[in-house]
Parts: sequence; C-alpha cells; structure tokens
Amino acid sequence: MSNEAIESLLKETRRFDPPAEFAARARITSREAYDALYRESLDDPDTFWRREAKDLVFRTPWTQTVEWNLPHAKWFQGATLNISESCLDRHMSTPTRNKAAIIWEGEYGETRTLTYAQLYRETVLFADALAKLGVEKGDRVAIYMGMVPEVAVAMLACARLGAVHTVIFGGFAADAIRDRVQDCQAKVVITQDGGYRRGHVLELKSTVDKALAQPEAASVQKTVVLRHLGAEKCPVTMVEGRDVWWHDIVDPNGHARREATIVDAEHPLFILYTSGSTGKPKGVLHTTAGYLVGTHVTTKYVFDLRDDDVYWCTADVGWVTGHSYIVYGPLSNGATCLLYEGAPNFPDWGRFWRLIERHGVTILYTAPTAIRAFMRQGDDWPKKSDLSSLRLLGSVGEPINPEAWIWYHKNVGGERCPIVDTWWQTETGSILMTTLPGAASAKPGSTGLPMFGVVPDVVTKEGTSVGANAGGMLVLRQPWPSMLRTVWGDDERFRKQYFSDVEGCYFTGDGARRDDDGYYWVIGRIDDVLNVAGHRIGTAEIESTLVSHPAVAEAAAVGRPDDLKGQALVVFVSLRPGFSASPELATKLANHVGQEIGKFARPDQIRFADALPKTRSGKIMRRLLKDVATGRETTGDTSTLEDLSVLAKLRSNEE
Ligand code: ATP
Ligand code: MG
Repeated sequence: MSNEAIESLLKETRRFDPPAEFAARARITSREAYDALYRESLDDPDTFWRREAKDLVFRTPWTQTVEWNLPHAKWFQGATLNISESCLDRHMSTPTRNKAAIIWEGEYGETRTLTYAQLYRETVLFADALAKLGVEKGDRVAIYMGMVPEVAVAMLACARLGAVHTVIFGGFAADAIRDRVQDCQAKVVITQDGGYRRGHVLELKSTVDKALAQPEAASVQKTVVLRHLGAEKCPVTMVEGRDVWWHDIVDPNGHARREATIVDAEHPLFILYTSGSTGKPKGVLHTTAGYLVGTHVTTKYVFDLRDDDVYWCTADVGWVTGHSYIVYGPLSNGATCLLYEGAPNFPDWGRFWRLIERHGVTILYTAPTAIRAFMRQGDDWPKKSDLSSLRLLGSVGEPINPEAWIWYHKNVGGERCPIVDTWWQTETGSILMTTLPGAASAKPGSTGLPMFGVVPDVVTKEGTSVGANAGGMLVLRQPWPSMLRTVWGDDERFRKQYFSDVEGCYFTGDGARRDDDGYYWVIGRIDDVLNVAGHRIGTAEIESTLVSHPAVAEAAAVGRPDDLKGQALVVFVSLRPGFSASPELATKLANHVGQEIGKFARPDQIRFADALPKTRSGKIMRRLLKDVATGRETTGDTSTLEDLSVLAKLRSNEE
C-alpha cells in the first residue's frame, strides 16, 4: 500500500439540521450536549460508563473499567452478570413486563406478538431444555434459523447458560454451515424445518443434514428442530439419536425456573463470521459485559428510543446488525421490535411500506442496498402506504450515496425524519459513528461523529493524522467496550488483521476523510482505492457521482491494470427504470463523472449490468468485479456471494 494520502474530491454540501420538533424531545438535544458527554466519556470513562450502564443488571459491579494491553482489551473486570437478565429479567418487575417485545409478521402476513413476560418464559424454558440436552457454559451452539421469534429465544437461552452462540445466516448453503461449525467446534445446532423466502420454502433442516453428514462437522452431537412450516409444507427427516424437536424438549406447561448462569465480564458471548466482502470470513469473538454496555447505550441514544416506539431493524439476525440492534440492544432497553420473516419485495415492492403502516413503525433501520433497490422501483410504492408514524430513519452496511440518502429522506421520511447513518463493523459490536438525531446536523453520505468513548482518526500508514479533508486510513486509537476480543481460535490473525497496518491502532480496513466540522466520510475500502492518472481516490466518490445521475440506480467502481495509465477506471452500473443501456448513455455517464470530479476521473469504461455481485448481506463485492474487469478468472473466497449467476452474466456481457 502506498503512503500517499488519498484524495477526496467530492464535496457534498447539503446539510440537514435536526428538525426542531424532534430535537425538542430528543435525549440529547444539542451539539454542545453531545460534545460534553463525549468529552466526559474520554476524560472520565469510569463515571461515564457507570452512569450509562445503571439500568443494566450486574450481580457484582466492576472494579476496573478498562485494561488495555494492545491488542487485547478487557472491560469492566470484576463484574459478574448474565446478559439475559438485562434483556429479560429486569423487565419482569416493571410495567415493561406486559409490553410487546417482539411483534412478528410472517411472509404470508400472519402475526404473533410476544410480550416481555412471554419472551422471558420461552427463553427460560428453552434454556432449561438445552441444559438437559447437555449444553454447558462455554459450549458453542450454532443457530441456523430464519427470522422467527424463536431465533431470539435461542440466542438468549444460550446466553442464559453461558454457552457461546454462533448464528449462521439462513441463506447460507451446507458448506458454509460445515465450515463455521468446524471452525468453532459446535456441539449443538438449533434449526427449524424451513422458512419462507419470496414465496418459496427454504429448507433449513435438510441443509443442516447435508452439512452434518460431512466428517468436518463431527463435533455436533445434537440438533434441535423448531416446527415452523409444518410437515405438509416442509417434511423433514429426523436422525435417530441426534435430532430432537423443540416442542418435545420444551414443555409449554413447565415451570420456568432455570436460573441464569452468572459469568465474568469477559466471558465469551458469541462468535459471528463477518460478511466476506473483502475475503474469507473471520470468526469475530464478542464477550459479555462490554458488548452489553456498548449495544445498550448506542441503541438508546442513536435511535433516541422512547417507551412508545415501534422499532424495526430490517437486518437478518444472521448479521451483527441483527445481533446488536434486533436482540441485545433493543431488548436491554425494553423496546418493542418488529421482526419480519420475509423478503422486502414479496409479494411486491410495497411490502415494507405496508408493514410500517400496519404496525405503526416509528423507527426504521435499514441498509443502502435496500434503499437503492427501492429507488430502482420508482417513487410510487412508498406513496401507497401511510408512513406518518415514522419519526427516525437509520442506515448501515455501506456508504450511502447522497442521492440514495435524499431519496430515503423524501420518499420514506417525508422530509421530517432525521436519518442516522451509522458506521460500524462486525468487529466493533456496536455503532461507533453517527450523527445523534437531535444533536447534530446530518450531511448526506457522512457517518458523522464518534460515539462515546470512540477515538477515530484518519492517518497515513505511519500513523500520522492526515488533517482535515484529506483521505487516509480509518483507524481507532483507543479500545471501546464492545470491540472484538480476538478471532476465534486464531489470535495471530487477530493481530495481523487489525493491529499490524498502523502502529498502536486498530485499523478498520476502510478509507475515510474528516471534514472541518469533525464529520467522517467513509470513501470505500482501502484495498479498493483506485489509482487513476496518479490520483488515489476512494470508490465511494466515483460511485456516488454516478448515482447522482438520474439514469443510475447503483454503481461499483474498480481499477483494471492499464499499460499507459497504470490503472484504468471501470465502472459497473445498473440503471433506473425507464433507461436502457446504450453507448450514448455510457458516454454521457462518463462525461458526468468527468464534470463533477475532474477530467482525470472520467471512467475508461462503463459497463451496464442488471445486477451487481453482492454478499449475502447485500454489500457490493468489488474484489470480484476487479477480476471481471481484468478479464481474469475469479480469485478468492466466493462462499459469501449471494448469487453466482450474477457473475456469470457479467462475464457473458463482455465486450
Ligand atoms: P469482511 O470483513 O469479511 O470483508 P465486511 O467488512 O463487509 O466483510 P461487516 O462487518 O458486515 O463485514 O461490514 C463492515 C463494513 O461495512 C465496514 O468496514 C464498512 O466498510 C462498511 N460499512 C458499514 N456501515 C457503513 C456506513 N454507515 N458507511 C460506510 N460504510 C459502512
Ligand atoms: Mg470487514
């Protein structure tokens, strides 16, 4: 990697102040108030975290806030707790007891609501059943389920026993299950007969069977199977001696008595494999107290949670967003969460908006990939539903192109809802940067300011800050409570991956710039930085410039080796409805980039595509596009690619 700074050329100047009505009632109401809290979190972390964690359940309080032996941090040592007591037990003695914890809607529209008391009971009964199956503190349990309330029950029940869960996204194939089960040596797998996805039955149990038939998965002794679809829609074969039905081991009339296993602050809570945008997924390990405090505090402030909110995070629980912002963060705050089983476009592109109207959703947290997909369908779908219950919107997963931000703001937020663009990673456990909705103005495309206790910086490879408005490597200079503790079973990879690029810092893998107001702008992955005509630029700026053209819905920029220029700029583009691919349009789009950014940045080639290759969590996989652009075979890990045919199609479109 070169040491030169990265140029940042695109200056987005639009700015959206917190709406007065929102700010008046917000938890943090001004930039000054945020600044004061942020300063306190750095100057006096002990006072800060003790106060902010006061609602959480600790059996014994901590004696040391943080111990930092780079690269290893320990938070809140001396504390003992069980995270499920903060998410469930603590609400049993308050009115939250009878409040909806989870409102579930299936793909076919059926609904189910679990109050906190019901969720508590289900969890305790299931924990008891797991214990009787032989699950003990420290054992690893894989969870391969769809979006049903029981997935939260399964996670919380593992946590209640001090067992370490690893949730495997329900869209993964058998080999991905096998690899993850083998990597963490899971003892039990929890699954369900099947689930719905776009009207089709997704056979989860039979996929588990295929995974477990392989010798690499020999660690698994038991599987627990939830009946969700029923024998008619999704018949399953139960393996004698290995498989048990959930309803056979849980007695609905049983006494919910299983006490939580009390663990130390640093006891492992879960292992989660990253999305695989840049390579083979890493088994990120999170521990108990720091993760709880990090997700609790960020959920409360970033989403400005109030007692009467209906909060909807559209991520799948198989990703970190689902862990932190469907399960642990919201439940530890006593929030009401909507959980939706199916696809955003089933049976049509109005589904999300009908869900919002039907359940009176007040907070919506989704991803740029979804927003761009909705944009591609035009402005009419959201108009068909009453979205007036919404008061706050969020985004996570990729840089949001400013044009997509504006679309979201207008068509979903009715120009009245603040948008929190939240930057974080599987590794960070919780949101590390955003604009707190009542406190700071939003700038489309910027992830805003650091959360409490977080010290980001933009640096060169030597670790020198690049200063305002220049691009560089995004690092974190200090540990934060919910940071990963290691890569499961591979501490050397942990060191190498995160702590070897910039001395003394955690390196995020992302490039960014900080503007004059201290706002951060992620400009893409460092590995994807383009080198065109001697200029080093991030992918996000080129892509956002294209998305600002009315014809473009989505864009991905990559470099291709070029004899003359060193690197030629190739951009893959998918179009909005009403536009069709043509050489004239390609020229227009290339000129558009040239005008907006500079002649040197004019793409050498624009390639039209119906779809771009994405991870199963919906992120554009530029490393695969680089291979396509260069005309070489696909190299690297493709296990997380959502749809292999997308790549084949791109190749067959070769000019
Ligand atoms: P892998 O690490 O396996 O390559 P991944 O980085 O995509 O996969 P995640 O942990 O799911 O795995 O994603 C974190 C990354 O997503 C961040 O490093 C960043 O590149 C991107 N990201 C997440 N949120 C934002 C955001 N609000 N703005 C810009 N980028 C974001
Ligand atoms: Mg990553």
